[in-house]
Amino acid sequence: MDTDVVIAGAGPNGLLLAAELRLAGVRPIVLERLTERSTEQRANGLVGQVVRALDRRGLAEPLGSEPGGPVPRPEYIFAAMRLALQLIDNNPVYILPSPQAKIEAVLEERALELGAELRRGHELADFTQDDDGVTVEVAGPDGTYSLRARFLVGADGGHSRTRKLAGIDFPGVTHDATVSRGGHASIPAEYIDPATGVLRIPGYGDVPPFMHHRSDRGLFAYAPFPGRQPLVHTSEWDEPDTDEMTFSELQESVDRVLGVHLPLIQESPFVRRNVGGNTRIAERFRAGRVLLVGDAAHVHSAMGGPGLNLGLQDVLNLGWKLAAEVQGWAPEGLLDTYESERRPVGERVVMQTQAQSALVAPGPEVTALRAMFAELLTEPATVQHIADLISGADIRYFDGRHPLIGRAVPDLTVDGVRLAEILRSGRPVLLDLLDGSPYASHTNDHVDLVTGSSDRQVAMLIRPDGYIAWAADDANADGLEDALDKWFQGRVLTKATT
Ligand SMILES: Cc1cc2nc3c(=O)[nH]c(=O)nc-3n(C[C@H](O)[C@H](O)[C@H](O)COP(=O)(O)OP(=O)(O)OC[C@H]3O[C@@H](n4cnc5c(N)ncnc54)[C@H](O)[C@@H]3O)c2cc1C
Repeated sequence: MDTDVVIAGAGPNGLLLAAELRLAGVRPIVLERLTERSTEQRANGLVGQVVRALDRRGLAEPLGSEPGGPVPRPEYIFAAMRLALQLIDNNPVYILPSPQAKIEAVLEERALELGAELRRGHELADFTQDDDGVTVEVAGPDGTYSLRARFLVGADGGHSRTRKLAGIDFPGVTHDATVSRGGHASIPAEYIDPATGVLRIPGYGDVPPFMHHRSDRGLFAYAPFPGRQPLVHTSEWDEPDTDEMTFSELQESVDRVLGVHLPLIQESPFVRRNVGGNTRIAERFRAGRVLLVGDAAHVHSAMGGPGLNLGLQDVLNLGWKLAAEVQGWAPEGLLDTYESERRPVGERVVMQTQAQSALVAPGPEVTALRAMFAELLTEPATVQHIADLISGADIRYFDGRHPLIGRAVPDLTVDGVRLAEILRSGRPVLLDLLDGSPYASHTNDHVDLVTGSSDRQVAMLIRPDGYIAWAADDANADGLEDALDKWFQGRVLTKATT
């Protein structure tokens, strides 16, 4: 074998997967067809539980998170409606504003620091697989060559060649009615309330910054990001212009959506027009020794920014399972739980982004539906439901006797140290915070034992992706040995050395 795993694509998902595999001691080679990191304007930030997940790898702070750990935001949007998150007790909506280019730079640095090999200008051209591995044909700068690996992961985006070559269908829908336009533009100061930043548009009304805003004619958003170029964005349901996109096309679109003239000041040559979009999920996430992550596995509307919340958590789910398989200690069926756990999450993202698209569409019926929905969003229970849905906080991979089982770890401190920091090694952890640490003798070679005191009396078996395999509130719970068997192989349990 030339390497353990070939990853096609050095986008955010391929890069995080490389880092995860290295953390687990597995050798990945990342193939990237571009010779330099992309500067394409895509994500403007990370939204949801992915921020906590990256904090569990020490990657949230380099992306701008508060040093004491990420803090949820007091408000966000759903279908261009305000989500008043201050109304709810358990706010799960964490947001890290950061351009995708920076996210990729941080992930690349981490992957390389951990020893991953990244080959830029090398494109996955073809592959074959057999019982022992995958042979990948690579088109590199000096010609074509082969690489032999145990597994291949397609992190090569929505048009994934890996997916196509694996013969995996990509069913779903293509919508061609929406035309989105964007560009770097600011708005003259006289239109902005200096205290709140709210746009005061004569003849139209107030529009808060950063939030999508719907009129009967389309969507408008103004995002004055601190320290970077402000963005103006519109979406309309019209025939696209076929000429090259221009700044005046953006200006005209803004004026159409608002129904009044709002002057824009061009801040850079960057303008973009996107027509339509796709909502699709791969029919399988695995074909033998080939797996798909991120956009290669699913694409959907970017409304609300769910793409990286979904993709990066695919990767955290897959990384340790794939490493266990490569290292030969994976319990039977472990790798297949990647798809059984992540497909339903992808389906919920498809559901909620399609619902948002329907709720911002034009027409008086939609306006009425929105008015009703806005009433529902004054109810804390509804806000909690939507917040859990869009952030991925409602993920429960599997049930168990304890309510924490199958869920992501809560925020705790153990002897003054945040649990997120304790989990950064990416190893499974048996955390026993109960008096006398009654479960401390139950561990095995793959699991680290952590004891200590915290204001929550609990014991938890935590998977490397931060999800809880088993939990107990007292010393007499059963199920720990079964959980160790199920997730970390049924080795002879050894006395822990603490
Ligand atoms: C306009 C826009 C705004 C968005 N905003 C947000 C947002 O705010 N928040 C959010 O979370 N998400 C957002 N997204 C979605 C997010 O950008 C994607 O989900 C994310 O880029 C997917 O990452 P990926 O690594 O799966 O694929 P990609 O980022 O597409 O990376 C795939 C990589 O594979 C390489 N590649 C392709 N084929 C091959 C091959 N054969 N061999 C080798 N390399 C190959 C490509 O060059 C590319 O570098 C937005 C998307 C768009 C388009």
